[in-house]
Amino acid sequence: MAEEQKKQRYGRGAHSCQLCGRKQGLVRRYHINFCRQCFREWAPRLGFKKMN
Ligand SMILES: [Zn+2]
Repeated sequence: MAEEQKKQRYGRGAHSCQLCGRKQGLVRRYHINFCRQCFREWAPRLGFKKMN
């Protein structure tokens, strides 16, 4: 798919967390690739409110 190729330009393992490289529990929204743990820490800084 074209989308897959685009995302692979972001470096090693397009489907891994940009911060810790984890591949589990990825949150792929808002143009970010964070795992749930990192997303939870960064969400407030990125302007997201806690949604749980
Ligand atoms: Zn992470």
